[in-house]
Amino acid sequence: MPANRSTGEKRERPDDRGHDERVQADEAPALDPEVEARRIAATSFIHKLGDPVLKSSATAVDRFDDSLRRQVSRMTAIMDDAIGVGLAAPQLGVSQRLLVYRVGPDAPVIALANPRVEWASDESEILDEGCLSIPGITVDVERPVYVRVRAQDEGGEERLVEASGLEARVIQHEIDHLNGILILDRTSRDERKRALRELREAERQREAA
Ligand SMILES: [Zn+2]
Repeated sequence: MPANRSTGEKRERPDDRGHDERVQADEAPALDPEVEARRIAATSFIHKLGDPVLKSSATAVDRFDDSLRRQVSRMTAIMDDAIGVGLAAPQLGVSQRLLVYRVGPDAPVIALANPRVEWASDESEILDEGCLSIPGITVDVERPVYVRVRAQDEGGEERLVEASGLEARVIQHEIDHLNGILILDRTSRDERKRALRELREAERQREAA
């Protein structure tokens, strides 16, 4: 995985250089209007920075019923339409220890309930990460490269996931959401200041428009 590729929840585009959000935006191919309309509709369901649900610790899943499976389907549809690689239930305003991810367009969707990191490698790497709840910015986040995660699938069966690289990063990012932790909490003070400045600037431009 190239060191400056954008990861986290934003699915990278083929020519994505990742180190400069404006460069990315300028170079990204325009989305098909229908795909773009679906993306905008999906992101409207995602709770954004400032919403208290994103700062709270989620509740354990204890019922593995049809309602949970419907929740997994809904999360998968919104993640895919939002062109994301992962989504956690609190991002939809649901305080449940549940996440879904898909690390590539052809990869299967994996749903994890009550996930916990059982082991993480000492080896870590710093990569640029984005979040569907904080659109428009990416920040450097250091995370272990390898993790072993114990969880349950949507049927309640125990599931052990040994992940590396992007998959390990996405799982850790989503587990952070279940604990009320955002990428801005995981980055350096300078990076956080820069990101908040960019967010304020984007807001100002929206208001002026
Ligand atoms: Zn996120």
